[in-house]
Amino acid sequence: MTEKVVIIGSGPAAWTAAIYAARAQLHPLVIQGDPTNDKNRQNGTLPLGQLALTTEVENFPSWPAGETREYLRTALKPDDPAFPYWVTDNKPQPTHGIDGPQLVALMRQQAKNFGTRVEDKDVVKVDLKNKPFTLTTHDGESLKTHTLIVATGARANYLGLPSEDKYKNRGVSACAVCDGFLPIFRNKPLAVVGAGDSACEEATYLTKFASKVHMIVRRDQMRASKIMAERALANPKIEVKWNTVVDEVLGDEKKVTGVRLKSTAGKPDETLDVGGMFCAIGHTPNVGFLDGQVKLKENGYIEWTTVSRTFTSVDGVFAAGDVADDYYRQAVSAAGTGCMAALDAERWLGHHGLV
Ligand code: NDP
Repeated sequence: MTEKVVIIGSGPAAWTAAIYAARAQLHPLVIQGDPTNDKNRQNGTLPLGQLALTTEVENFPSWPAGETREYLRTALKPDDPAFPYWVTDNKPQPTHGIDGPQLVALMRQQAKNFGTRVEDKDVVKVDLKNKPFTLTTHDGESLKTHTLIVATGARANYLGLPSEDKYKNRGVSACAVCDGFLPIFRNKPLAVVGAGDSACEEATYLTKFASKVHMIVRRDQMRASKIMAERALANPKIEVKWNTVVDEVLGDEKKVTGVRLKSTAGKPDETLDVGGMFCAIGHTPNVGFLDGQVKLKENGYIEWTTVSRTFTSVDGVFAAGDVADDYYRQAVSAAGTGCMAALDAERWLGHHGLV
């Protein structure tokens, strides 16, 4: 059997594409990632994507503050493995909007309600040179599809230091929301590297657990939006180390004990005692499995080959969300391009007499 549309991914782009494709009777299959793979968790490529790694989402339209628990209880299905955590625990109600994991779980449920099929697998290989396309998953299975929507998102970057690699999961992390509550980080000074919205958000979040948070900023200014930067700078627990970069992660073999800082302004090196280091220095698109068969831009993101379309260099392959968007990178813009990709795929199938 050849699928009409396969969507790879599990964030807002993927689920929106699935909702549109399912309502168009294309019986989409979403390959949402292998939830058992720890690397997926670290990379944010696990089911529900990067939103699963965030707290409150304040800027996705339609979620003003309100009592969402009852709605979640009725909208999500109890067979969802994450259901008890999201709905039956005593987590406080978000003060604004909705939590990221809840938002994307609702999107997935909406897609399923219209008949979307979902597989917990990673696509590790593709053949896009021959039609229909062939996709191979991590368990060695393969399937064929007429159209493909790539919505695999992007993952967090690390500095690339050997000492950083050595202490991953032992005090080095790229996700405050996933790891900040762990005992190793409690009541200790922590470092957050970066100066963008993510760094400000992570630093602010970590003040809940840390005795102090040092933001390591390589220039003399923030990249973050004014509101996020001001929120972080006004937090009495956050101190910024301007014009500094982390040169080495220090540890006692079991855990992180500090970071060595190098000045970018010619000042002497400095050692900071911290119990953990969180990287918030941008993202890399998840395109490895495409093995060069889809044209990428210089920065590694998939190139949309036609203005205002989700077309890629391969006829019948469409890209949506952060895997192709290096500029807006918002949940709502990802959802928008997911919708566009489904409509583009539907028209492609119609044009080829396949619907
Ligand atoms: P950004 O690309 O905006 O920022 C990356 C930061 O990391 C920059 O400050 C950069 O420094 C720094 N950096 C990069 N490489 C290194 C390095 N090797 N060493 C030290 N510092 C480094 O990424 P973000 O993830 O913060 O944000 C991505 C997008 O997501 C943005 O559009 C942002 O607005 C959005 N976002 C929105 C949020 C919200 O609205 N709630 C929350 C989080 C993200 P430099 O400035 O010197 O280049």
